[in-house]
Amino acid sequence: MSNRTFTMIKPDATSKGYTGAILDQIIKAGYSVKAMKWIKLSEEQAGLFYDIHRERPFFGELVQFMSSGPIVAAILEKDNAVADFRTLIGATNPAQAAEGTIRKNFAASIGENAVHGSDSDENAAIEGDFFFSKLERF
Ligand code: ATP
Ligand code: MG
Repeated sequence: MSNRTFTMIKPDATSKGYTGAILDQIIKAGYSVKAMKWIKLSEEQAGLFYDIHRERPFFGELVQFMSSGPIVAAILEKDNAVADFRTLIGATNPAQAAEGTIRKNFAASIGENAVHGSDSDENAAIEGDFFFSKLERF
């Protein structure tokens, strides 16, 4: 379990045509794809995914944004997958993200920040289960 994480390429990045470049950076960093889908969330589904943030002031904005266009959801495998992926994507706010990180390269703002990465092994499993059945992962 500790060698898997979950990601989404968010609607800002898919709409700007960054999907291929972001996937390329992820794969070049050593991740292999265990499940993947191109999908558009409803507001309700986006709210359920980010339920932990329901009381935060940006929750409404987050749900609107995450349901505004298609996303790519994926389960990724590599040694130390969760922590290394957080390093690969960079800080939540792209203005504070390190040089060469996915958010530095492709994100515009703290809200529209190109990618999601799970923050723990437990959440990686929960988030993967949110999107993928057993038949859809390999
Ligand atoms: P993610 O969970 O998407 O990988 P993260 O773990 O870096 O991002 P969280 O604190 O979990 O950051 O916030 C979830 C998402 O909510 C952020 O990625 C961003 O899209 C949005 N968000 C967080 N803080 C703000 C904010 N201050 N204003 C607007 N949107 C925000
Ligand atoms: Mg988070």
